[in-house]
Amino acid sequence: MPDTISDSRFVGNPLVTGDPKIRFYAGAPLRTKDGYNLGTLCVLDHKPRVFPGAHAKLLEKMAALVMSEFKIRLAGRSAVAELSEKEKYANELYRLATTDSLTDALNRRAFLEIVKKDIVRAKRYQRPLSVLLLDIDHFKDINDKFGHATGDAVLKALVATARSSLRVQDVLGQVGGEEFVILLPETPAVNALVLANRLREGLGSIRIEVDAASVRFTVSIGITGCLYANDTVDDALKRAELALYAAKDAGRNRVELQSAA
Ligand code: GH3
Ligand code: MG
Ligand code: MG
Repeated sequence: MPDTISDSRFVGNPLVTGDPKIRFYAGAPLRTKDGYNLGTLCVLDHKPRVFPGAHAKLLEKMAALVMSEFKIRLAGRSAVAELSEKEKYANELYRLATTDSLTDALNRRAFLEIVKKDIVRAKRYQRPLSVLLLDIDHFKDINDKFGHATGDAVLKALVATARSSLRVQDVLGQVGGEEFVILLPETPAVNALVLANRLREGLGSIRIEVDAASVRFTVSIGITGCLYANDTVDDALKRAELALYAAKDAGRNRVELQSAA
């Protein structure tokens, strides 16, 4: 519009009558492919101006450029959103594949995968390392007496308490429904014995309130140190299992140690 005050569409506009007193206006719509008007790309002046057709074409081209910039940005943004959705999904699948759905503890396979590097390090640098195998005492009786849901609550409480009493470098895995394995890096068996007894006592002080009853439970723990020379994880787990059997045989609610051969 060469002069806004001679055009009925503009003459009453406050931007024309007052500041910034626009006298010249040329605009090209910013329109999406499906016909949405997002706005206008415009040039303004305080003075009236002649606007040749070539300039109008140029303005339209610039508007098209703005629209393609928009499109690129939008495409980029939705690509990023899609990627983070995929990442979330992959993380969720990973979590489902590596943890127990009730307790969230690492499953056997994930535990073994995660402790691999601790074991390599212990062997290479001859560092001490201990393995604990923990099993709930008479768990079947708890299920039978108080119901499966209470049994589940016991498992959850056990994992939560064990986690909070272990050190960051320790790794907890669930190898059976009510059986757990714990790897203690940089820990000789004698120190593991102290830690295991503290854990056993901590777990023994848990109370799970069900209706009028207060449910308690105890655990038995088998320990072995390892893993120099030809000793494998399987060897260590077998020894820990023997120690666990010994703890059960000796009356439960106790820790037993089976030294490496
Ligand atoms: P012991 O002292 O010799 O270990 O006896 P126990 O009763 O703990 O051992 P047993 O192997 O006889 O029984 C284990 C029970 O654990 C049987 C099974 O129903 C229960 N169990 C396994 N997984 C789960 C679970 O995810 N939730 C519940 N509530 N119970 C489970
Ligand atoms: Mg048991
Ligand atoms: Mg068992």
